[in-house]
Amino acid sequence: MRVDGGLAEGVEPARGVTTGSGGEIAAAWQRVKRRLRAELGEDVFASWFARLELQEVAGGVARLTVPTRFLKSWIESHYLDRVLATFRSEADGIGSIEVGVRGPMAPPRAGAPAPKPPQAVRPAPSHSHPAHDAAEPERAGRPSETAGDLGGAPLDVRLTFDSFVVGRSNALAHAAAERIARHDGGPALYNPLYFHAGVGLGKTHLLHGIGHAVKAAGRRVIYLTADRFMYGFVNALKTQSALAFKERLRAIDVLILDDVQFIQGRSIQAEFGHTLNALIDAGRQVVAAADRPPTELESLDERVRSRLAGGLVVEIGALDEALRASILQSRLEAVRATHPGFEVGPAVAEYVAKAITANGRDLEGAVNRLLAHATLTGAPVTLDTAETAIRDLVKNREPKRVKIEDIQKLVASRYNVSRSDILSERRTAAVVKPRQIAMYLSKVLTLRSLPEIGRRFGGRDHTTVLHAVRKIEKAIGEDTALCDEVELLKRMLQD
Ligand code: ADP
Ligand code: MG
Repeated sequence: MRVDGGLAEGVEPARGVTTGSGGEIAAAWQRVKRRLRAELGEDVFASWFARLELQEVAGGVARLTVPTRFLKSWIESHYLDRVLATFRSEADGIGSIEVGVRGPMAPPRAGAPAPKPPQAVRPAPSHSHPAHDAAEPERAGRPSETAGDLGGAPLDVRLTFDSFVVGRSNALAHAAAERIARHDGGPALYNPLYFHAGVGLGKTHLLHGIGHAVKAAGRRVIYLTADRFMYGFVNALKTQSALAFKERLRAIDVLILDDVQFIQGRSIQAEFGHTLNALIDAGRQVVAAADRPPTELESLDERVRSRLAGGLVVEIGALDEALRASILQSRLEAVRATHPGFEVGPAVAEYVAKAITANGRDLEGAVNRLLAHATLTGAPVTLDTAETAIRDLVKNREPKRVKIEDIQKLVASRYNVSRSDILSERRTAAVVKPRQIAMYLSKVLTLRSLPEIGRRFGGRDHTTVLHAVRKIEKAIGEDTALCDEVELLKRMLQD
């Protein structure tokens, strides 16, 4: 992970950024957006961050702007910590961030490099994002606290055990979470407790649920996202108080770590390993979640992986239709608390629960769109209007499967080499770069494991693939031309 604020080559500074090193800050901001996009996914990014702009950095305060009040409050209540942590890890001297609403007459960064166009990737109907804005639903979801100087992230008050709907695919995870949360005294039960599941299947919800319950029982809990964890350590190491930081970390009963797959960097993962060992050996409960099982956390070393795998590992499966229907009902009820006139009949609800198969996040998006529609038109939600309102969510439910062979062919033709060159032993630069890009794309666009990818690239070792993936990841962060090139390849493969 980069912690310096170095200027990436070829990145133009944003105009209007008033700071001593505007170019550097602007470049760092571009990296922040790129990381948010990569980490949160195209959908979330397009909904919330595509129109987030950096206005200036002055006196350690980064001022960001968005076009609407709703976007502002949503980002503030859901993503402020994340944006701050990401920005801090990309640039020095960022103390805090503020989000403001920019007027229609004042484009924030005239002449700045055009933002990456998420809209172009997935042309969304015009109701897609602005609908959120137009509806401006009241949000009860304010962070309930800030977790003091340990650098913990706040818990979202909406994500409790009460609001978590239990079904077949998450029953075991839920039961384990409740056991942990209610356990007091005595050695930890399963340590660590590790959840894994694809995006939007309720990991974060369960983790926050544990956090609330542990706190309510008067025990000390800290919830950290990977970024928080990395930022905490990077910062602590910088100020030479790593020891004090670790001491403070040990003074807690339950440590919750979300999105562990993003923890990376040699020194950080070593610290991560020490922290895990120290906490577990001291009988403190550790709960972690990631998008994959511990064995597939390639950015962590073997010992850390096996420590994570050494407790109870629970997978949360896809939401079946019954579960989707219940989650949808509970969401609708929650919205009705603030919008009493909002009615969605059983036929429409059934249609939505059938159509949105991907995950809980899309269900939430669907409810927001229905609400926006109802608020804007004042008309009752019919099957017809529901169908239009959620069309893009439905279309997206089955992303195209990309084949490694297609990646190799496309990359080869793009770089004027042959596919057999890519599979060969040749190590000339003309072949190595496309080969590494193809390996990188295979990792990000397919579900294949590193060893499998290695096999498909002429029987290479998985460490070779990992090296390629890291190398390209790093290069993308530093070289905008390459970043664009890789984006383009991705789009060509996915269209
Ligand atoms: P993850 O962290 O696994 O990506 P989240 O916990 O953020 O997923 O869930 C995405 C959305 O779906 C959240 O709004 C969450 O409240 C909702 N959700 C997921 N599973 C459930 C569930 N079992 N009950 C209620 N809401 C759920
Ligand atoms: Mg999550």
